Amino acid sequence: KRRDPDQPEFHQAVEEVLRSLWPFLEANPHYRQAGILERIVEPERAILFRVPWVDDQGRVQVNRGYRVQMSSAIGPYKGGLRFHPSVNLGVLKFLAFEQVFKNSLTSLPMGGGKGGSDFDPKGKSDGEVMRFCQSFMTELYRHIGADLDVPAGDIGVGGREIGFLFGQYKRLSNQFTSVLTGKGVAYGGSLIRPEATGYGCVYFAEEMLKTRRESFDGKRVAISGSGNVAQYAALKVMELGGQVISLSDSDGTLFLEGGMTRAQWDYLMDLKNVRRGRLSEMALHFGLQFYAGQRPWHLACDIALPCATQNELDADDARALLKSGCICVAEGANMPSTLEAVDLFVEAGILYAPGKASNAGGVAVSGLEMSQNAMRLHWSEGEVDTKLHSIMQSIHHACVNYGEENGQVNYVKGANIAGFVKVADAMLAQGVV
Ligand code: NDP
Repeated sequence: KRRDPDQPEFHQAVEEVLRSLWPFLEANPHYRQAGILERIVEPERAILFRVPWVDDQGRVQVNRGYRVQMSSAIGPYKGGLRFHPSVNLGVLKFLAFEQVFKNSLTSLPMGGGKGGSDFDPKGKSDGEVMRFCQSFMTELYRHIGADLDVPAGDIGVGGREIGFLFGQYKRLSNQFTSVLTGKGVAYGGSLIRPEATGYGCVYFAEEMLKTRRESFDGKRVAISGSGNVAQYAALKVMELGGQVISLSDSDGTLFLEGGMTRAQWDYLMDLKNVRRGRLSEMALHFGLQFYAGQRPWHLACDIALPCATQNELDADDARALLKSGCICVAEGANMPSTLEAVDLFVEAGILYAPGKASNAGGVAVSGLEMSQNAMRLHWSEGEVDTKLHSIMQSIHHACVNYGEENGQVNYVKGANIAGFVKVADAMLAQGVV
């Protein structure tokens, strides 16, 4: 905090991890003696750069670009790029820090990183987005590589942006390598990558529910967000017989009384991914309720899947969820619940999964995309989905293994310790670097 006083999200992420790691570190003093904690909170490298581009009116615009290379202890840096006006160094350090533990949990050999820009793709033409992506990559390309650092998508970076970024990387490096994941299937992408985070989150929640002999069938499920993660979480919930009762965006919450239909999901996909419109349009189109400026957590539900952004679920929201009888919260987004909200869930003894465990499906399939690229192979949808499912089950198993507490599973503790041990052991083996 003394070194970086203006990075509250990063401090929050570190505090959450340290709280659950502390007793484990006391029982295993060799990690502290080797200075693992002091090292793990400091990025190996952070790059900050100017991104100049020309808008459709011919004006020069300047944004700031970043790449935080947090840890390469167990593999090349790996983590998404976020394009959103709220992006700054502290936000990316929090995301990169979380990514280190998450990637370790997948059991695949990937270190942790994160990057992005304060560029806002909303309201920009395809041409503007392309020129921005090309300028961004013109600096980033010298810092990344298939065996060095492999970025992917995140908020504001989907298939369109990855395509533009990849095209520019290929042109500058004169090589067709697996330097980005989330690529289109036509040029090296993996099937199931778009679906992976949302599906994985629901698979993880399913495992948690099984421990209490519950399932998604017939449950009311509140989802926040309406982007990549929310879309595929919603689809999988519907497939498993659950009712998706909400979606949201930064303007408010769409209430889907009685549950979303397949026709409504198809409309959502076109609205968000093709027309790049707002949820309020969906409310008008189907005659649904839209609560402007509100989050979904006041709606009565059995299961909550926060899939939008950090700190979108605070203590009041947590109390509202508990009061309405919510039995399970699985995070699709990164750190959507505040520390106070997490405490309330854990105290109440409901099933609560932190994002680093429940949203690891995205990066896991990114890891599988890297494997397919390296082998020059293309796995079928079924093969990738089966591997995703079994990775989410094994993450759940690891959380249970390390998180057992008074006959219950503390998934926060389980995920943090399980993610930490592999990285820390690799650091011990590699000396003070
Ligand atoms: P998208 O850009 O596809 O969608 C983001 C959604 O969240 C939109 O509905 C957006 O609404 C909403 N949102 C974003 N910022 C805010 C904000 N400040 N306040 C309210 N709503 C907001 O992103 P993704 O679906 O890919 O990512 C969502 C979350 O999941 C993020 O936390 C991301 O880090 C995490 N995640 C994503 C992975 C992936 O594979 N994509 C992997 C693991 C985690 P609006 O359109 O109004 O901005």
